[in-house]
Amino acid sequence: MLTRRQMLLASATIVSAAGPGVVPALALSTEPMAPADARAMALACGAAASHAELVAEARLLLDGEVKQGLLPANYDTTIVCPFCRCSLKVAPEIAF
Ligand SMILES: [Zn+2]
Repeated sequence: MLTRRQMLLASATIVSAAGPGVVPALALSTEPMAPADARAMALACGAAASHAELVAEARLLLDGEVKQGLLPANYDTTIVCPFCRCSLKVAPEIAF
């Protein structure tokens, strides 16, 4: 009987012997969202809190890029909500 460690090592050996990119990702697939699900997701975006989290994450990324000097402090950008497709303007909060 094989142990879990032996099984992992055997599968890693098979993958490395086949080379990267040779083994297809059979477990992953993408499918379009059903229209009813898309409408439900868009309704959920009606609450201001759902967009607040999205804006906060984008602002955190912008703050990091401003700190690194990759963007000016007065930079702003527009992000699109992946659920309701509305546009949200985001600017960094960092000031020097
Ligand atoms: Zn939304």
